[in-house]
Amino acid sequence: MGPLRSTKILKNWRPAIFTLIIFAALIFQLTISKNTQATAGYIEKTSISLSSVSVIETIPPVVLEVKDTFIRSGSSLSLHLEDNGITSNDSSAVIEAVKDVINLRRLRAGQKVELHYENNYFAGIMIPVSIDKDILVNRSDSSGFNVTEKYKRLQTYPSSIDAVVDSSLYASCLKQDIPENIIMDLIQLYSFDVDFQRDIQRGDQLHVTFERLYDEEGNPVDTGNILYTTLKTGGQDLSIFRYENSKGKVDYYNPEGQTVRKTLLKTPINGAYITSGYGPRVSPISGYNSVHKGMDFGAPRGTPIKTSGDGTVTYAGYNEVYGNHVVVRHVNSYITLYAHMSAFGRGIRRGSVVDQGQVIGYVGTTGMSTGPHLHYEVRYNRRQINPALLKFPPGHTLAGEEARLYQNMLSSYRSSLP
Ligand SMILES: [Zn+2]
Repeated sequence: MGPLRSTKILKNWRPAIFTLIIFAALIFQLTISKNTQATAGYIEKTSISLSSVSVIETIPPVVLEVKDTFIRSGSSLSLHLEDNGITSNDSSAVIEAVKDVINLRRLRAGQKVELHYENNYFAGIMIPVSIDKDILVNRSDSSGFNVTEKYKRLQTYPSSIDAVVDSSLYASCLKQDIPENIIMDLIQLYSFDVDFQRDIQRGDQLHVTFERLYDEEGNPVDTGNILYTTLKTGGQDLSIFRYENSKGKVDYYNPEGQTVRKTLLKTPINGAYITSGYGPRVSPISGYNSVHKGMDFGAPRGTPIKTSGDGTVTYAGYNEVYGNHVVVRHVNSYITLYAHMSAFGRGIRRGSVVDQGQVIGYVGTTGMSTGPHLHYEVRYNRRQINPALLKFPPGHTLAGEEARLYQNMLSSYRSSLP
């Protein structure tokens, strides 16, 4: 290092340290504001003064302040800034700076906006736009602002929860604080094999291990995929594992390495909303017999009905018996019928091509029906069959090297279980 260079450093040390202190103070400030409780409509003030820091006496005292504010319903970012005392010039300059990185029309009521001040002078804002991204807007000169997108690192860890069924599977999972989107995924995974109306009983046991995403402060901020799950019901263990093959394709498999996905769903309705079919509150919902050639699923009016398998709608209309009903022809000569609907799904008409799980209609009580329920029939080669007895071959089975890798993954899961 030559003498020229050290002179330069000496010349520049003051602003550098000054910036460093401000930066450190800002970080401290942000940490403080993260820990303050604030609710919509309230403004929390936290401020610290650097005047007590006596490291460098030549630095003028800088007071940094962060206000947590929340956009009110019916407001906009510019209105919100002006409501909080920001001049219209500053407000327009901030909007100008952020309009290309934030879709301002998509900011919702309750969105947090941090207002930053230096020596009581408006210095910029911070908007946490998603769990992993903050938008920082800092004053660059007397009239302009710079925008920076700050990405937060999220860490993913597995989280395991057990539940014992004491009411519906859905309610029992909620009681154990299983996140709702994980419950919905669970119900979808078991809908291929489980009749949520008749199979689930009090005392059935559920285990689920799923991914949880944590922010830099260690708060759980989101959930990821279900890694594995076991449901003990009707004397059998239904275990399902997520597996990503060597080509990166992800699917769910049973312990034998067969895909869980089947040609038809066993529960062609959102199983979360099925009204209890057992215990003292047994509903008059009937099962399959020679007179009643279908399965009934009791659920509140408006519950989405799912298309049981991929196919084409051959009928969507009304008659006195079935009320509003839809008939779907599937690729392998199976035909399914969904009756008593209150309404048809969006775009469902004769000729519509439908995917498994697509909403085909909504539970109702039209036609010959005594209360809201789905009446579901399956026909095969023109004969009506009992949906409960349907047995479909798996979509595919892991073989060779994939089967070996899959079994290795299963043993590592098993050894990690208590
Ligand atoms: Zn029925």
